[in-house]
Amino acid sequence: EITEIHASLSSTFLTSLSSSTKPNTTPSSKAGQYPVLSLPYRQHQLLQLARLVQENADALCHSLWVDEGKPRQEVLMAEIGAVIDRALKSARELEAWVGGGADMGEDVKLVGWQAGWKARVEKKAKGVVLIISPWNYPITLTLQPLCGAIAAGCPALIKPSEVVPTFSALLAELVPKYLDPAAYRVALGGVPEITRILELKWAHIFYTGNGRVARIISAAAAKHLTPMTLELGGKSPVIIDGASLGEEELRVAARRIVWGKVNNAGQICVAPDYVLIQTSYIPAFIEACRAALDSFFPNGALNSLDYGRIVSEAHFARVKGLLRETKGKVVIGGGVLDGSGGPQEGARARGVEPTVVLLDEATAADDVLLQDELFAPILPILPVASVAAALEYVRAHEHPLVIYAFTESDEVKREVKAGTMSGSVVFNETFNQLSVDEIPFGGVGESGYGRQPLKWTFEEFVYLRSVLDVPFSEEPKFGGRYPPSSKESLDF
Ligand code: NAD
Repeated sequence: EITEIHASLSSTFLTSLSSSTKPNTTPSSKAGQYPVLSLPYRQHQLLQLARLVQENADALCHSLWVDEGKPRQEVLMAEIGAVIDRALKSARELEAWVGGGADMGEDVKLVGWQAGWKARVEKKAKGVVLIISPWNYPITLTLQPLCGAIAAGCPALIKPSEVVPTFSALLAELVPKYLDPAAYRVALGGVPEITRILELKWAHIFYTGNGRVARIISAAAAKHLTPMTLELGGKSPVIIDGASLGEEELRVAARRIVWGKVNNAGQICVAPDYVLIQTSYIPAFIEACRAALDSFFPNGALNSLDYGRIVSEAHFARVKGLLRETKGKVVIGGGVLDGSGGPQEGARARGVEPTVVLLDEATAADDVLLQDELFAPILPILPVASVAAALEYVRAHEHPLVIYAFTESDEVKREVKAGTMSGSVVFNETFNQLSVDEIPFGGVGESGYGRQPLKWTFEEFVYLRSVLDVPFSEEPKFGGRYPPSSKESLDF
């Protein structure tokens, strides 16, 4: 069946290419009145995508409650609202992104001896693309790339995560009701299905997920020389420059860090993974974390409907293993729900308290909490001698998706920016870089490559095609290039 879907999407793309030469006879898509993949068609599909999310917000929230025990407020804030907003913005800004006009490009003014030539750069759809998304923010991370593919004029197959089956089945049901099935399809399934999908030739693969699977997908893509976007994760550090912060700033810093950690129970690609802070500020920081958590969850996080759960039994076992194996001292939290059968059922039974662990400088390097991305509501604190030592630690590890630094010192900000590499640097806040549409989001090195959202996602799905048109009347300028040469000698 996947071969048929691929063939049908390819045929839609080819139709769009051949029909664009005869605008008056272009077959309209079943779903709309516009020629397939034309600019108005794309805008219409983007509006339909916004409608899909808006009209089914309750069902989407419910699906994530069932699959992940995810609080409704978190879904509304980080997923529903974000996707509606970005689909509408994409529809509105699309003409500016392509450079306007039906030819979708920009004329380039040439000078000097080339002044009489016509040059253009056009942003053309790459073709039929594949979007593979993870479970942690499944609405945003599936539909935000889809906005870019639609905007670019690429038919797309989307493969949501099997780890969130209720959501993925709902998406498979909704997409054909709102979007043109000739151009946008959903494939369900796990490793066997995705393996089959990866045998086919895609014009671009947009993958969001972990680095291990990214390597499998990259190897499959390499067989077809398929370009990719890799949105991966890693351990994003938090550097706290205690010396520059007053009591109140340290309190706010802790509040912002802890908030970034408890969202989606820490299962965020940009979660503050661990904290680097000078020993003398640690007691105040821990107390500030405790105060923040008490204010967020006065009756305890595990009793709050605002606090999420661990996505699957396998991840629940992994996170419990981390708590068991760390050599650090649990200074806040540490509690877990005792599996299903208790008062909280299904996904809600997989609860892990927000937990702060103080590591011992001497043994920390080997600690289980400082190995892989935690993806859990566990915040390890690693004491360091200075900000310089913190930067040294960060430099010695893979380039993270983001570096967070809490400081009031311009000099430290400069050192953090100049002395490290990462997809983003965020000062004095967590998570909110994702809400700023004007700056691109993505990784570097092990945290991936390619950028989103909006215009940057669109750019991932187009290629730059140069068009040069040299008038015959320019021929006199080429006199000197044709043999025989006027000076037939080897005199240099
Ligand atoms: P996941 O387990 O849902 O996997 C992601 C996708 O990969 C799924 O669609 C799945 O079907 C597919 N997949 C799994 N095994 C595969 C295989 N063997 N071959 C081919 N495809 C396979 O999600 P995950 O990877 O656990 O997601 C969490 C990771 O994603 C974290 O590392 C996180 O940091 C990262 N992430 C990054 C971003 C970002 O924008 N940079 C956003 C969210 C998550």
